[in-house]
Amino acid sequence: MDVVVAHDRAGLQEARTALGGAGRLALVPTMGALHEGHRSLIRLARERADHVAVSIFVNPLQFSPNEDFSRYPRTFDADLEVCAAEGVGIVFAPSDEVMYRPDRQVSVSAGEMGAIVEGAFRPGHFDGVLTVVLKLFNLVRPDVAVFGQKDAQQLALIRRMVLDLDVPVEIVAGPTVREPDGLALSSRNRYLSAEDRVVALALSRALREGARHRAPADIRRAAREVLDAAAPALALDYLVLADPATFAEVGDDHVGEAVLAVAARVGSTRLIDNMVLTLT
Ligand code: AMP
Repeated sequence: MDVVVAHDRAGLQEARTALGGAGRLALVPTMGALHEGHRSLIRLARERADHVAVSIFVNPLQFSPNEDFSRYPRTFDADLEVCAAEGVGIVFAPSDEVMYRPDRQVSVSAGEMGAIVEGAFRPGHFDGVLTVVLKLFNLVRPDVAVFGQKDAQQLALIRRMVLDLDVPVEIVAGPTVREPDGLALSSRNRYLSAEDRVVALALSRALREGARHRAPADIRRAAREVLDAAAPALALDYLVLADPATFAEVGDDHVGEAVLAVAARVGSTRLIDNMVLTLT
């Protein structure tokens, strides 16, 4: 079956109606520039539902003025080929004007959880993410939505929004897809020069080194050493060992899951990565 492309609300409703009432619909929200990580989420979505919709929208609300909104890669034709090859039924690719009315007033607040860790470096970012995700849920009306573990705090906040606002969508997480050398796939990796790319490997290496230990202090220290050794080419924003549901730093006696999360700038590119550990 061919992929149906919708650019506005009417087109989306038409495409949705064409699927027929039967079967579950999964949504994979993306900003395009699709790579193997996105493909893995689409495949997971196909396992969980009868039809898959992919949204492609570079959301201006989640970029602050000093970030890379205008230079964010836009590769629509190639993205469409990926979607067609992966059996996607609907691609929803609205313009900024379709998504946001000029007189809009109401948005979602990510609360205090949106202001810590990644949110401390990107004020307003998670408000923008949750606002667009809720709008996409309301427009597409999926039964299930698939997100990557790569953006761990985003995933935690979407789960939080679904609970706090009683959003009737099941949230499924897909594991982070990596290059053979460990670098987490990201649409932003294309900005890395050959030298930057070598430096960037310190992020995943730090996570692996941290994961060799069991006590929070040792985990943080081991990861930190790797990141410090890569400075100043790598400029660290944060390294945290946090509760995966709240993103609050875990204490020394923590048992159970903890997410070791890192963000750093390499050249002009900002990268994030994380690994979920089970502390016993
Ligand atoms: P983006 O297009 O970067 O907004 O990402 C769209 C979705 O793909 C989000 O749920 C991301 O967490 C997910 N994603 C991004 N990179 C990866 C990756 N390397 N592996 C798995 N999922 C990813």
